[in-house]
Amino acid sequence: MSTPVVILGTGLAGFNLAREFRKLDKQTPLVLISRDHGGFYSKPMLSNALAGNKSAASLVMKDSAKMAAELDATLHAQSAVRHIDTAARSLTLEDGRTLTWRDLVFAVGADPIRLPIEGDAAADILSVNDLDDYARFASRLDGVTRVAVLGAGLIGCEFANDLLSRGISPTVIDLAPRVLPRLLPEAASERMQQRLTEAGAAFRFGVSVTRAERAGHATRLQLSDGSQLDAELVLSAVGLRPRTELAAAAGLRVNRGIATDRLLSTSAPNVHALGDCAEVDGHTLPYVMPIMQQARALAATLAGTPTPVVYPAMPVTVKTPACPTVVCPPPLDASGAWTVELSDDGCDARFHSGDGQLLGFALLGAATKQRQALVAQIPGLLV
Ligand SMILES: Cc1cc2nc3c(=O)[nH]c(=O)nc-3n(C[C@H](O)[C@H](O)[C@H](O)COP(=O)(O)OP(=O)(O)OC[C@H]3O[C@@H](n4cnc5c(N)ncnc54)[C@H](O)[C@@H]3O)c2cc1C
Repeated sequence: MSTPVVILGTGLAGFNLAREFRKLDKQTPLVLISRDHGGFYSKPMLSNALAGNKSAASLVMKDSAKMAAELDATLHAQSAVRHIDTAARSLTLEDGRTLTWRDLVFAVGADPIRLPIEGDAAADILSVNDLDDYARFASRLDGVTRVAVLGAGLIGCEFANDLLSRGISPTVIDLAPRVLPRLLPEAASERMQQRLTEAGAAFRFGVSVTRAERAGHATRLQLSDGSQLDAELVLSAVGLRPRTELAAAAGLRVNRGIATDRLLSTSAPNVHALGDCAEVDGHTLPYVMPIMQQARALAATLAGTPTPVVYPAMPVTVKTPACPTVVCPPPLDASGAWTVELSDDGCDARFHSGDGQLLGFALLGAATKQRQALVAQIPGLLV
């Protein structure tokens, strides 16, 4: 039997790569290793699961045994990797077993960023980045009326809207002056904030949380402007940091993420990375659409046809039913300007370069109907 392709991680990156690879290569042995349950679920559903009254268990679409059978793969769940030897092309699991590989793929995701908050309740602050986190979060909501959400970015706003569906009015706190500052122009941020406020959310901008203390059944947050806020539950959604420790310990080049070229190759031969853990040609793109593009390209490479990843326009749906939104942010270094049209039932914001090329957009409310028409106008290869 030939040496396997080994994939570390069974999130959307690991499983989509395995699926794409099996479409092209039905012979090469495939091994997936995950330190979690190894079942298949859609992570984006974690931030709108309360509205659907979903339990963590009901979000699992297929368990690890079904996934292994479907992929004709060996799946080691609840297995962490202790050591990787890139020269010997081998790895050791925590239980001492050693596996060799033909190709190794890192698809190990990212960790929630923890803000430097002091106080005896700092460790009680939750973040939701996997099914176990969601189970913990959902189990603590009974009887709760006051929730503080740290972070007014995409995930913070989605959780705020989801909490509203449970009759909880969240307070969203951010050091930035407005919601989704990296994805929306100012007028669009204002519109989204207005809609979420009308639905029952409150916002505190330009402040950070410095301390979290236990105060009876609540957590007392000390804010940087000297004020205090009490909440029975505090959820942090301030961003993710690629998991790079294992790759760095194996001697791979690491920047913000595990550094790869457009072929998703790391600095070691036959070792690759994709998904939230990867920094591909200088870009970390922690969204589903880039992962699908990366999975297809890497599957082709692993099946014998070296294929660099290219990205089409990749719009992201913001799951805020109080203000349906689709964003396709322009590249960070793009020069150009936003034009924004506000109407009673929406906001249509477009980013054009100096020579009139559409490079990005943000559509709110009724304007989301324009999504496909605008995607077709954006050139590929923006990142
Ligand atoms: C709440 C939330 C909502 C989101 N909503 C959207 C959305 O609407 N649209 C969108 O495009 N994107 C969204 N995203 C982002 C998107 O979900 C992620 O980009 C994507 O799921 C990341 O997949 P991944 O496989 O790279 O990482 P993960 O899903 O984190 O998977 C990592 C895997 O690696 C395993 N692992 C980690 N370390 C080890 C180790 N040492 N050994 C073995 N296994 C290991 C883990 O167990 C896990 O199986 C959202 C993210 C969150 C958190």
